[in-house]
Amino acid sequence: MAVERDRSTDTELWPIHRELVPVMERKTSRARRNQRTLLIVYRIDCLQFANWSESIFREMRAGDVDAVHVTIAYHETFRETVAEFSKWNRWFEQFPDLIMLGRTAADIDTAKATGRTAIFFGFQNPSPIEADIDLVEILHTLGARFMQLSYNNQSLLATGCYEENDPGITRMGKEVIKEMNRVGLVVDMSHSADRSTIEAAELSERPIAITHANPHSWHPALRNKRDDVIKAVTENGGIMGFSLYPHHLKDKTECTLESFCQMVADAAETFGVQHFGLGSDLCQDQPDSIVEWMRVGRWTKAIDYGEGSAAAPGFPPQPHWFETNKDFGNIEVGLRDVGFDDADVASLMGGNWYRFFDENFGPAL
Ligand SMILES: [Zn+2]
Repeated sequence: MAVERDRSTDTELWPIHRELVPVMERKTSRARRNQRTLLIVYRIDCLQFANWSESIFREMRAGDVDAVHVTIAYHETFRETVAEFSKWNRWFEQFPDLIMLGRTAADIDTAKATGRTAIFFGFQNPSPIEADIDLVEILHTLGARFMQLSYNNQSLLATGCYEENDPGITRMGKEVIKEMNRVGLVVDMSHSADRSTIEAAELSERPIAITHANPHSWHPALRNKRDDVIKAVTENGGIMGFSLYPHHLKDKTECTLESFCQMVADAAETFGVQHFGLGSDLCQDQPDSIVEWMRVGRWTKAIDYGEGSAAAPGFPPQPHWFETNKDFGNIEVGLRDVGFDDADVASLMGGNWYRFFDENFGPAL
């Protein structure tokens, strides 16, 4: 298949594992003859929100997942978010052989070399900064790397995808984007409305992300992104992670691996394979009370079913080919089956996120 290529992502320029390369070169002369042996294949998932446990961390290892961006705030205040960082610090202390804190792309190499998964933190709402722009830098220092400017509703910064009107990025939103650009906190517009997302992509001096969503043209869910939104994000160097959350999938739980992978192929052909990765939105082992907190927070006394309904208010079952962190291999096989070559599979499974992390998590140069 004809996939539009950006030569800057060609294999010879890919990040090479800094510590393993010399070992591999010593080990085998074949490695010297075949540059491809040196290509490091990353598995990076740019959105999960599980009910974290040792068993999930072990599944991450079983699935060879090198890095995961985990959500630690939906509607939490600053102080409540600090408590979420603390929870993770305890897990890092408790399971040092399984997980480690990720702050930079290089930490993914450390995790890979030591058989662990690097955990990167993000917020699905700007509630942790409350109404204080100075907290952007404080939260980045604590380890935050992604922040959504809105979550379904209007925020102080931008409009959410469930609002009827979208007046675009607010005055404070423009200032916060500048501050996020300065410190290296990535603007994530996964739950934002169209105009706000396009404006964020244009206003931001650094590439932005849609960490978890799919093209609206494939499955017209409210949360999925229309082509002009994907175009604005990718044309400005941004990246989108494909979601495996059933409400974002064509035929939901019944979605086939082939349909999902063909959607990836179509998006790659239209916008460029270098602009995509995975953002599974996997919510393993969560009780249904959690999806209620995500949707309702403290903004309403009524029940908001979000993408669900009164008849099916909870988390929908995952498709059988992607139920846990152990299943990333299925997607890799599916991508090959729809015609992607080794280099493109590697870029989609994690190479593109690695490059994005490498370029966007530090202070602006
Ligand atoms: Zn989300």
